[in-house]
Amino acid sequence: MRVAVVGAGIVGACTAWALARQGVRCTLFDRRQPMCETSRASSKLLHGGLRYLETGQFRLVGKALHARTDWLELAPHLCHRLEMLLPMYRDKGRSQFVISAGIRIYDVLALGSGFPRARVLKPSEVLALQPGLSPEGLVGAWAFFDAQMDDSALGNWVVDEFCDLGGDLVTEHEVRDLAELDDYDRIVNATGPWAMQLRETMPGKPSILLDWVRGSHIVLDRICPAAMLLEVPGSSRIFFILPYQGRTLIGTTEVRQSGPNNPGPSEDEIRYLLDAHNHYMTGAVAMRCDVVEAFSGVRPLLRSADNPSEATREWAFEQTGKVLHIYGGKWTTAKLQGDDAAHRILQ
Ligand SMILES: Cc1cc2nc3c(=O)[nH]c(=O)nc-3n(C[C@H](O)[C@H](O)[C@H](O)COP(=O)(O)OP(=O)(O)OC[C@H]3O[C@@H](n4cnc5c(N)ncnc54)[C@H](O)[C@@H]3O)c2cc1C
Repeated sequence: MRVAVVGAGIVGACTAWALARQGVRCTLFDRRQPMCETSRASSKLLHGGLRYLETGQFRLVGKALHARTDWLELAPHLCHRLEMLLPMYRDKGRSQFVISAGIRIYDVLALGSGFPRARVLKPSEVLALQPGLSPEGLVGAWAFFDAQMDDSALGNWVVDEFCDLGGDLVTEHEVRDLAELDDYDRIVNATGPWAMQLRETMPGKPSILLDWVRGSHIVLDRICPAAMLLEVPGSSRIFFILPYQGRTLIGTTEVRQSGPNNPGPSEDEIRYLLDAHNHYMTGAVAMRCDVVEAFSGVRPLLRSADNPSEATREWAFEQTGKVLHIYGGKWTTAKLQGDDAAHRILQ
């Protein structure tokens, strides 16, 4: 059997790798290079996604919490555990009861993953770890563990593993119509945000619809002493301030788009992230001129909620003839998604 996988983002790469491990002859196509789109523009977190508990995505969070361990075991040179602080302020944002309940559930779902349990920190301990943080009204923080990766390097490592097993990688090759790949026995459409466009080259209406939600990050050229998860002031949205490769990574936004193409971050998004950062980091305020890099990616989310923050991060498949279309998902669970896709191909 010969299989063509279109799209060398993390989902296509994991699918091709899973097929190659099963001894299937597989060719992985990308119109540019591996990991050149959404999969290199993530928040670099291998995480369960604490906030998804609020929308009842317990199954997904549980899977993702254990998937973190798989990545740490597979490629310890490209990812590591990361302690995250969740500061709590008096009379601001979610109640301490809600936060504590979420953390406890996160811990329970992570049982057996080998990650340490969360702990409570006093204000003085929080400020010792993150001295720039505003002390006003600070009542403490939860400290819990997730993991951090170099998304581009880890994704390219997956592609290398695939090639080492004899897989073919074809770059700078755009598949304009799935009929071009008719010589293959099976075809996988793993083009992430563009999956709907490629699906439209086949007859019939798609059974699943995508929502395109752009997310932007900014980078400050300064060390970030501790990773933090915080609420955007005046909203229940969560954003991150993270140490990354000796710099500070701040993200993300959620801007719904009418299509998959990535226009890059807008000035409004950059301002939004700077304001959110400065609201908390009163001892380390950043100006527009401190932003040394800004980047964005488009999330290919399954259309499931009016508010993009509440949209599911699960994935779904659609089979049309010999083509398997893959929609949605997240980086952390991409290996499970690829294994799932390969299983369907081989059934
Ligand atoms: C801002 C942001 C932050 C995120 N943070 C996290 C995080 O911290 N942790 C986490 O787990 N998840 C995170 N995610 C989600 C995760 O990044 C995505 O779910 C994942 O990267 C999607 O991968 P993909 O392979 O489906 O798509 P992509 O990475 O976009 O890959 C699609 C590939 O298909 C190729 N392609 C498209 N059309 C064609 C064609 N016609 N012919 C050939 N090739 C084609 C493209 O060139 C591209 O390489 C984040 C997403 C965003 C946007």
